[in-house]
Order: sequence, then C-alpha cells, then structure tokens
Amino acid sequence: YEEQFQVHIEKVNTALQEGEIEVFRESFLDIHPYDQAMFFNQQDEEARGQIYTYLSPEEMSEILINIDLEDVTAFFEEMDPRYAAMILAEMPTDDAVDVLNELDKEKVASYLTIMDQESANEIKQLLHYEEKTAGSIMTTEYVSIYNNMTVSETMRLLKTEAPDAETIYYLFVLDGDKRLVGVLSIRDLIIADDETKIEELMSTKVVAVSVAKDQEEVAQMFRDYDFLALPVVDFQDHLLGIITVDDILDVMEEEASEDYSMLAAMSNTDIKDDN
Ligand code: ATP
Ligand code: MG
Repeated sequence: YEEQFQVHIEKVNTALQEGEIEVFRESFLDIHPYDQAMFFNQQDEEARGQIYTYLSPEEMSEILINIDLEDVTAFFEEMDPRYAAMILAEMPTDDAVDVLNELDKEKVASYLTIMDQESANEIKQLLHYEEKTAGSIMTTEYVSIYNNMTVSETMRLLKTEAPDAETIYYLFVLDGDKRLVGVLSIRDLIIADDETKIEELMSTKVVAVSVAKDQEEVAQMFRDYDFLALPVVDFQDHLLGIITVDDILDVMEEEASEDYSMLAAMSNTDIKDDN
C-alpha cells in the first residue's frame, strides 16, 4: 500500500509542477484530507499559490482543518481575501472561529463583510464566547428535529441536513420553544417503525453542557459519559451548538501539554533551589 501511495504522490507532484490542473485535481482529491494536508504543508509559497487557484474554497477548507492553527493563520495572510473569506464560510464554524481568533481585528472584520450573511452571522455569534469555554469550542452544524415529528419525516429531513452537519450520529430533539427536550442516536431511528413519533423514541434524560463551562470540565464529561458528541445549552435549555469528541481530543492534548510545561518549570526551580 505504501509503495502505491508514494507512486500516487509522485503523480500529484508532477501534475502540480507541469500545471496540469485536471490531473492534479483528480489525483490530489483522491487522497484522504489528512494526506492532502501533509502534501500541501510541504509546498513552498509559489506552489501553494498555484494550489489556491486549482482548488475550490470548499476543497481547501477540508485541507486546512487538518493543519496546525499557526500554519493555517500564515496561509490565510497570503491568500486572496475573497478566497480566504469563502474558505472560512465553508469551514466548520468552530474551526473558522479558531482561525479568526488568531487574526487581527481589521482582517476579521473584512473577511466577515466579504462572506455570505448567514455564515458571517453564525461566526459573529461564536466569536463572543469566552476563550476555553464550551461556547468557544462548539460548532453550530448539528441536526435538530422536533418531538412531534415521525421517523419517516425525520429521515426525509436528514437527507437535506446531513451534508452540512458535523456529525449525524445523534439527533437533538427540540420542543415548540426550541428547548432541548431529548436525544436519540441514528441507530435508534433506523430500527424504529416509520410512523413512530420521535417523542416515543427519544431519551429525555439529556446530558448537556452549559455554554460557559470550562473546556477542561467538558473534557471530563466526555471521559465520564463516553458520548461521541454533547449538546451545548444556555440557561433556558435552548440548544446553541454541539461539541464533538474530535474537538475534545484537541482540548485534552492542549491541557496535557500545559500540565507538562508546568511540571517541567517546577522541576527546573527545584534544581536551582538545590544549588
Ligand atoms: P448503544 O451503546 O446503546 O449500543 P450506540 O453505541 O448506538 O448505542 P451511544 O453513543 O452509545 O450509541 O449512545 C447510546 C444512547 O445514548 C443513544 O440511544 C442516545 O440516544 C443516547 N444519548 C446520546 N447523547 C446523549 C446525551 N447527550 N444525553 C443522554 N443520552 C444521550
Ligand atoms: Mg455505545
């Protein structure tokens, strides 16, 4: 497999060098976004500039969410602002917010005015949440349904909602006031009869995170409950977003390296004290 992969990467490389757009797109888009990111990250500025013209903002957003934030921020600086704004609009909102938090205020404002109104509004809302809280790491791309819907209505809705959702594994159930009243997994849905009401299937003891909760405590909830995603709510139980387990892995990594730096700093002081 590895050998075949190397041959494939060579093909991508050659196509890029020779400026064969179609061959490049076909061979490059065939590999996993992580591998695309690794390839992209190895290119020099000129080659990156070329790639920006070969890939759509949507395709580019898939790549950038697999690259370290500092590098991504630098790439945004070199892109055409219009292209950059479109990429931000295509990214999952939590990732877009991470990038924008690294850029200066004027840049952020200019991207937000260029991009489509709907994405801009969603991102603006998220930018207000305090750093390292549940609100700052959640995404607004989730599937929500209503308690009075039937299984078959839900299935139909899923066809239109699923493409843009961060995960479709859990469906979050709202009442008429848009309060979170239940949750069910896609497994629960698939095995039920078409005419069954969601109300009868959903579990009503919903574990939810309040929007101001510290991210470290959110990570602990993921360890405790083993869910793949958790809903985020305000004080009135309105659903604001979801946090998925892959974003929590990043938090855990961040916290672990912070703890490690602290330990390292402490043992350095110990050595000094002994001398
Ligand atoms: P099982 O473990 O029963 O085989 P599963 O592996 O398909 O189910 P899990 O992720 O383990 O799915 O979720 C189990 C159940 O927990 C699902 O039926 C789902 O409705 C429920 N659930 C999901 N999220 C929450 C939540 N935030 N609060 C309470 N229950 C939830
Ligand atoms: Mg399970």
